[in-house]
Amino acid sequence: MKKICDLAYYYGLKMRIYPSTQQKQIIKVNSDISRTVYNKMVAIDKELYRLKQVKLPLDTVVDRISELESRKNARNMANHYQYMQDKRVDSDMMANAIKNYKNAWKLFRQVHKVGTPNFHKKSYRENYQTSTHYTKKHNMDMFSASVRFLDNKHLNLPKLGRIRVSGSYRRILDRKTDIRIGTVTISKDVADRYFVSMQLASDTPFVQTKAKTNSKVGVDLNTENFLTDSNGNQVANPRYYRTIKGKLAKQQCKLSRRQRRAIAEGRSLREAKNYQKQRRVVARLHDKIRNQRNNFLNLVSTALINNHDLVVAENLRSSNMLKNHALAMSISDVGWRTFLQKMEYKSALYGRSFITVSPKNTTQTCNNCKFTMGTKGTEKLTLKDREWTCPNCGTFHIRDINASKNILEKGLEKLAKEKEKSLA
Ligand SMILES: [Zn+2]
Repeated sequence: MKKICDLAYYYGLKMRIYPSTQQKQIIKVNSDISRTVYNKMVAIDKELYRLKQVKLPLDTVVDRISELESRKNARNMANHYQYMQDKRVDSDMMANAIKNYKNAWKLFRQVHKVGTPNFHKKSYRENYQTSTHYTKKHNMDMFSASVRFLDNKHLNLPKLGRIRVSGSYRRILDRKTDIRIGTVTISKDVADRYFVSMQLASDTPFVQTKAKTNSKVGVDLNTENFLTDSNGNQVANPRYYRTIKGKLAKQQCKLSRRQRRAIAEGRSLREAKNYQKQRRVVARLHDKIRNQRNNFLNLVSTALINNHDLVVAENLRSSNMLKNHALAMSISDVGWRTFLQKMEYKSALYGRSFITVSPKNTTQTCNNCKFTMGTKGTEKLTLKDREWTCPNCGTFHIRDINASKNILEKGLEKLAKEKEKSLA
């Protein structure tokens, strides 16, 4: 059977699960140990780093180094710490925690901004990862391996056993073969709901690729509205955050009042029942905002992918823009970054093209004659200038439409260059 990385198509599936009290305990044990294993790895490497700086190491230092080195795999770590030998502990969880730690280093080497892996704090969330094992007698499907569907309402998970599940996964279940389950994440969110996420892979596409539309479009993401495309269509900003903000503020006040009271009475927050109840209320409100944003972004991105073969957008300069506070709120509100991620994912899934280009001068250049504002003694356009007339050729522009046309052109140029390169 092929390995997951050798398969051509990927698909992510997230479903809500309803564990029993006993299963909840098992999830907590595994989540706690997953975090512990990760933190042990951080601690071991921090100590190794210090020890290896010793210039003329004594024998004790050399011994300690080899002891620590040997503890850096799941089996040796479990042998060293007794509580990791609990029979509820999923050994794949430990292997995955170590793998995630190594990936964090890999990520650090690629993008230094993210920082070296550090300790994971205890939080109200729980999560751990397990793997799906297929043996020779198993088929490549979702019904035979260590993680498997028992029927369309139940799932079997390692150490947890049979668990009830709900969600929109039934479309996938219709496919009897040719799907392999990869890494599986079991999690609990701050509002105490449980989920399972699965990575699926297959040699045949999970969705049908879309028919060609012969349409290309550039999109300008801006603050007055969510986006403007090069055909002049605009999508307004969603206002869900602003409508829910008052409600959220009120509930958050209540939460801090309860926190103060619990502290004043010398109770621990984890045991303060009213505080915990209110914490979940606030978490659900945050979750509501997140869902509304997600729905909006899904609608917009799906429409673009459905209607165009090629979509070009700007890559974000969010860290610069976030310095401006008024803009910052709109940006976090509308979630451009998530939008771009969705575009990338969906274009790959449906066989469309999506590229991003540098935002340099896209707003300031006249799409008709390519004159750039701010040159030859002209003033640069400011955020307030929503409409302008090109001083060079006299064309009247609506700023965002002009920008999205430039973005589309930049994208086409980029594609042409890439094509040239691949032919050369
Ligand atoms: Zn012009």
